[in-house]
Amino acid sequence: AKQQGRNGYRYYTDDMGQQARQHTELRSALVGALPGRQFELHYQPQVDLRTGRINSMEALIRWRHPDLGMVSPARFIPLAEETGLIVPIGEWVLRTACAQLKAWHQEGHAGLPVAVNLSAHQFRGHDVAQLVARILRECDLPARFLELELTESALMLDTGTVLKSLLALKGMGTRLALDDFGTGYSSLSHLNGFPIDVIKIDKSFTLEVTRSKSTAAITRAIIVMAKALGMKTVAEGVETEDQLRFMAAHQCDSMQGYYYSRPLSVADMGALLAENRRI
Ligand code: C2E
Ligand code: CA
Ligand code: CA
Ligand code: CA
Repeated sequence: AKQQGRNGYRYYTDDMGQQARQHTELRSALVGALPGRQFELHYQPQVDLRTGRINSMEALIRWRHPDLGMVSPARFIPLAEETGLIVPIGEWVLRTACAQLKAWHQEGHAGLPVAVNLSAHQFRGHDVAQLVARILRECDLPARFLELELTESALMLDTGTVLKSLLALKGMGTRLALDDFGTGYSSLSHLNGFPIDVIKIDKSFTLEVTRSKSTAAITRAIIVMAKALGMKTVAEGVETEDQLRFMAAHQCDSMQGYYYSRPLSVADMGALLAENRRI
């Protein structure tokens, strides 16, 4: 900023330079994150809208850098995908989530599944199904307790390869969820032909259901359609009681959002599981 020129151009390039520098710094910091044990997983409960009890949870990665502090996954996951680091990071996430779930099962929370996000890049040139099978075996965890969340862009990347892996995963017994549903641009075609068990209604819909008639209509239609196809629905980003009421009134199966709980550390999630309070 000291060298900032009087003209806008100079300022602009300085700013660009700074952004590029930050990007490069973050990139090299990311290389050290896995060996430096800077990642952790947080868990956000999903709640059954009929019983009001926790019926699942999503593992969400957190990066605590010694100097940069907490870096949001929205910032570093794209970078990890760009650099290919998503492959070892994704493997760490799968193994850590499965091992943690096994520990919770052994503490008496048997029957609970965990959902893990998979990036499209984890399918490219890698046998994800084989990796998942190996990790489940290592953790001595039955496949039905693992739910894999994919976005529509992942399904669109390389339909042939992805479909083959999904069918292998499905055959093994894992559950498949379509994440951020409704935000992709060919949503309906993915419901036809892909072995999807769960649709996660994107939080942009949840945010608008009580404010926009058309969003309410679309959301109702998604739930009805999912039911007709034998799929479960999860409403993401439920923050208010009105949103919860809407989802429950229209027979959405589960909800996930700040209204019930933010993503929690292992200790806090463990404590919540022990209470498993009703909404
Ligand atoms: P996502 O898979 O759609 O995860 C849900 C995001 O919504 C999480 O953000 C969660 O903290 C946030 N959220 C939950 N409830 C609410 C709510 O009521 N209101 C609002 N406004 N937000 C809510 P987070 O943890 O920052 O993760 C952002 C994204 O980063 C994830 O979106 C996912 O795409 C990606 N991500 C996170 N962990 C992993 C991972 O282990 N692997 C991969 N490949 N991607 C991950
Ligand atoms: Ca997700
Ligand atoms: Ca989502
Ligand atoms: Ca998302």
